[in-house]
Amino acid sequence: MNAFDIAIVGAGPAGLAAARAAARSGKSVAVIDDNPEAGGQIWRGAAQIPLAAGARLFAMTRVFDVRPGFEVHTAPHGVIRAERLILATGARELFLPFPGWTEAGVAGAGALQTLVKSGMDVRGRRVLVAGSGPLLVAVAASLRAKGARVLGVAEQAPLGRIVPFLLRYAAKLPQATALRARLFGVPYWTGVWPVSFAAGRVALSNGRELDVDFLACGFGLVPNSEAAQLLGCRVEDGFVVVDSRQETTVRGVYCAGEPTGIGGLEKALEEGERAGAAATGQAVRPGRTGAFVRDLARAFALDGRLYGLARPETLICRCEEVPLAELAMHREWREAKLQTRCGMGACQGRICGPVAARLFGWTACSVRPPLVPVAAEWLATGQRQQEPGSDR
Ligand SMILES: Cc1cc2nc3c(=O)[nH]c(=O)nc-3n(C[C@H](O)[C@H](O)[C@H](O)COP(=O)(O)OP(=O)(O)OC[C@H]3O[C@@H](n4cnc5c(N)ncnc54)[C@H](O)[C@@H]3O)c2cc1C
Repeated sequence: MNAFDIAIVGAGPAGLAAARAAARSGKSVAVIDDNPEAGGQIWRGAAQIPLAAGARLFAMTRVFDVRPGFEVHTAPHGVIRAERLILATGARELFLPFPGWTEAGVAGAGALQTLVKSGMDVRGRRVLVAGSGPLLVAVAASLRAKGARVLGVAEQAPLGRIVPFLLRYAAKLPQATALRARLFGVPYWTGVWPVSFAAGRVALSNGRELDVDFLACGFGLVPNSEAAQLLGCRVEDGFVVVDSRQETTVRGVYCAGEPTGIGGLEKALEEGERAGAAATGQAVRPGRTGAFVRDLARAFALDGRLYGLARPETLICRCEEVPLAELAMHREWREAKLQTRCGMGACQGRICGPVAARLFGWTACSVRPPLVPVAAEWLATGQRQQEPGSDR
């Protein structure tokens, strides 16, 4: 078994900042990430991201279970044990169902960007970016830089909410203006969203129809708070509750970045630094990004009409192919899950769970390992290393 003073799950900006701060103390630090490169959603694929001197990176390592103690069960490295645990697991995109959302050609906005970063060629391809949040403009600008023909950005939030938000955060205006400049000539429609997609044609809520090669869609981000839930940390509205030192309600478990509130790079770096310092007994600087998280959520709050786009036959659970009509017959998540297998496929409800929460107000009943799909072989290996003879 590998033993460290500090184990950090996630090598995104929050995890890397935590590693840097923790390594300053001279303690041993392990950083675990399921990707071949450190950097998380923003920096992955960019130039070499420096890991703190002295910290060890377990790249391409999936964490599928975390247990009190703190044991981090991973594939393929088995169990990594630590005195303190920092969860910096980031967020995933929120998808909302509309007729045609499962067709080829519809992709997550961030997901398409990730594919392009890893080498997919989009030169000359017609792309419409739609959904909500600042990520849309960042994605559109990066796709255009790679040669895509970006036909427009459809943002569901109304201009009347976006402008005051931008003015309140004037320090971010140069960044926003620079991104817009990279999208010169590309329309940015506000209060507009896709209502259907069929055979490469997107229909928008403003009556416009566009022929595209890709509809890149994302309606904001959902925190990856499952590992924290597994350890019994308090989670409210999906977000991990932390104190001013980033410590969760479970002593010795810290959390930083998107799982504590969607706030982007600056917040991830600030919280990572604080978590790494706190976990190693160093002085902790107060945070400054709390108001930004609240204002961002308000500015890009989703229009209720987005929850009424799916038709009875529209699939909600893509893995198990469960349509809206089948789900609507049930009263809550557990019953729907038992009767329809909704949420029991490869993604383990990571996509349809947040959708069901918004469409029906259902909350997921529990989080169980494996947190992410891993081969049965690895489950068996991790088990043998840690608990000989266990029947769990
Ligand atoms: C698809 C996507 C694309 C994005 N693109 C941009 C962008 O271009 N520009 C921008 O400003 N913001 C972008 N964002 C927002 C971005 O996530 C945050 O602003 C910032 O990266 C948050 O940093 P973080 O460290 O909290 O999380 P992340 O950067 O998400 O890092 C979390 C890391 O934890 C790893 N991880 C999670 N669970 C496990 C597990 N079980 N086992 C092993 N490793 C695990 C993940 O693979 C990831 O590398 C994007 C978000 C998403 C979801």
